Amino acid sequence: MNHFERLKPTSIGEAVSLLSAHGEKARIVAGGTDILVQMKKRVTLPEYLISVEGIKGLDYIVHDKEDGLRIGPLTKITSIEKSSLIKSRYHALYQAAGKMATPLIRSRATIGGNLCNAAPSAETATPLIVMGAIVKIEGSDGSENVSLENFFTGPGMTVLTDRKVLIDIRIPNLPPNSGSVYLKHTRAKGHDLAAVGVAALVVMNGEIIKDVKIGLGAVAPTPIRANKAEKILKGKRPDDTVLQEAGQAAALESRPIDDLRSSAEYRRKMVAVLVKRAVGQAIQQMKG
Ligand SMILES: Cc1cc2nc3c(=O)[nH]c(=O)nc-3n(C[C@H](O)[C@H](O)[C@H](O)COP(=O)(O)OP(=O)(O)OC[C@H]3O[C@@H](n4cnc5c(N)ncnc54)[C@H](O)[C@@H]3O)c2cc1C
Repeated sequence: MNHFERLKPTSIGEAVSLLSAHGEKARIVAGGTDILVQMKKRVTLPEYLISVEGIKGLDYIVHDKEDGLRIGPLTKITSIEKSSLIKSRYHALYQAAGKMATPLIRSRATIGGNLCNAAPSAETATPLIVMGAIVKIEGSDGSENVSLENFFTGPGMTVLTDRKVLIDIRIPNLPPNSGSVYLKHTRAKGHDLAAVGVAALVVMNGEIIKDVKIGLGAVAPTPIRANKAEKILKGKRPDDTVLQEAGQAAALESRPIDDLRSSAEYRRKMVAVLVKRAVGQAIQQMKG
């Protein structure tokens, strides 16, 4: 690892000023489970690490009847996994947290770090995208809200560039009669990054799918929505044929690559299988 100086701002304003002052020489660090590994591998060599862990008020899970759920960026993955509120109302996010890394890593890793690291396989990204999450970001020219769906711009890249800080994640209340699920397929049993991740949020009207959102992870340069598959499912009775058709459509929408975790061809096949399964399980989750 290269020599670097660790800076410890105590407010978001100070963190933003430090980012502006040091530009590309500086990087934010939260739990450090991604960036310190990248520094060891010399993928990134910042001269300044701006530690946001000392900034108070960025670690919270709060729910409001009107506004829905808010999660602070410094919230640990363990806290999400242990939240009974998230388990009951935002089930796919609870499942994603529980499937991430090891218990030790989850106790260090933050949700903000998972999103800002912007791996195409980032576990919390697809559940939050299907739930319509909005992230608040702060830079030297003020703060703005961005839909998480528009947050990722490429592998390891987001709209934050180098000079902005993620300061809040908001998830609206989910509609009545909805259920959500996150499924992760790994190369081998045990802990590994997702070879394919699928999140589904389904809203039912009796036996008919009123609305559905499907998120795909690790099968494109960024986490994506499977828009064509969603269209096939909307307004339909979720029988085997329709679910199969939606799975095939999602597979065609994915743009996977070959890497050490999987071939592109196998990933596509797994998208079809997992989309079908996730939608079915989300309906079951809704029924309790
Ligand atoms: C052994 C191991 C297994 C793993 N397994 C998984 C897995 O199964 N699934 C998975 O999704 N991930 C996995 N990870 C990756 C990692 O643990 C997660 O992405 C984690 O949530 C990152 O959070 P962090 O707080 O440690 O981020 P950090 O390493 O501190 O930061 C990550 C990136 O985000 C930026 N950043 C952090 N917070 C902010 C902020 N508030 N504003 C702006 N930028 C910010 C940093 O500059 C950095 O670029 C694994 C990592 C390891 C080492």
